[in-house]
Amino acid sequence: MNASCQTSGKPTLKLLLAAPRGFCAGVDRAIDIVELALERYGAPVYVRHEIVHNRFVVDSLKAKGAVFVEELDEVPDGAAVIFSAHGVPKSVPADATSRGLDWLDATCPLVSKVHRQAERQIEAGRHILFIGHHGHPEVIGTLGQVPAGTITLIETVADVAALQFSGDAALAFLTQTTLSVDDTAEVVAALRARFPQIVGPKAEDICYATSNRQAAVKTIAPQCQLVLVIGAPNSSNSLRLVEVAERCGAASRLIQRASEIQADWLDGVEVMGLTAGASAPEELVNEVIDRISLFREVTMEQVVTAEEKMVFKLPRQLVE
Ligand code: SF4
Repeated sequence: MNASCQTSGKPTLKLLLAAPRGFCAGVDRAIDIVELALERYGAPVYVRHEIVHNRFVVDSLKAKGAVFVEELDEVPDGAAVIFSAHGVPKSVPADATSRGLDWLDATCPLVSKVHRQAERQIEAGRHILFIGHHGHPEVIGTLGQVPAGTITLIETVADVAALQFSGDAALAFLTQTTLSVDDTAEVVAALRARFPQIVGPKAEDICYATSNRQAAVKTIAPQCQLVLVIGAPNSSNSLRLVEVAERCGAASRLIQRASEIQADWLDGVEVMGLTAGASAPEELVNEVIDRISLFREVTMEQVVTAEEKMVFKLPRQLVE
């Protein structure tokens, strides 16, 4: 009998669970805001954009009476509307106020912090170079904090080389919160090399949750043949986890639900890593473990690389 087989007849698999993984404080807060708003105002409560990028979370809130829309003009007069954790351009709360809508802001406080930094840099007379992914809602929200023409989006080191500013221009940089720690360090280094006078945050604005989840994957991935990342295809921090695992030499797949996992994904896999993006709930992790256990005799080890204790306050309207 093969040493890797046990009495069940299934081959064994060592599962390394990355920790931290899954929900961050900003996502917890955003979901709490929708649930408390449903209690306070009664259904329906409107939510502009997916509150967090996870279908399971969105569907659970829909079942409780949340209605998800992309734009404010889909919200009826007099209704309550919540802005998603990714943040919104300033024009959105302004439009909601002018329509007399009762709005609540679920923007993660760490995203709001970047918004305030952007305003301060413009007040100081600097042009902002914003490192982020084109089209992501957080990027749209941050670009919309300052007047058009005062902020330029860059994504790569090549974008830095193509910038047309003079060597002594008054510049500042800021970053999206959910980027790759390593890629962003390269872009910031290229900015500092080309514009030594550029001003920026002491550490990039990549949030604690994004950094911690990437560090946890870096620790487990070198031991794994496969790393599964639970997250949505539009979740920036989840996509970055796949990249981090691949750079450590492991194959990696982004999945939304356990049912996507095929038995042959585990061919040749003795050690598998598992993590979840900041908007994926722990139920989905348990679901994946159950599915893997159908195919393999699983031994599990949780690899903890950081403890997270961050909790964000709720908006005043919901706690008064
Ligand atoms: Fe906030 Fe970071 Fe979570 Fe985004 S990933 S909601 S910035 S804590």
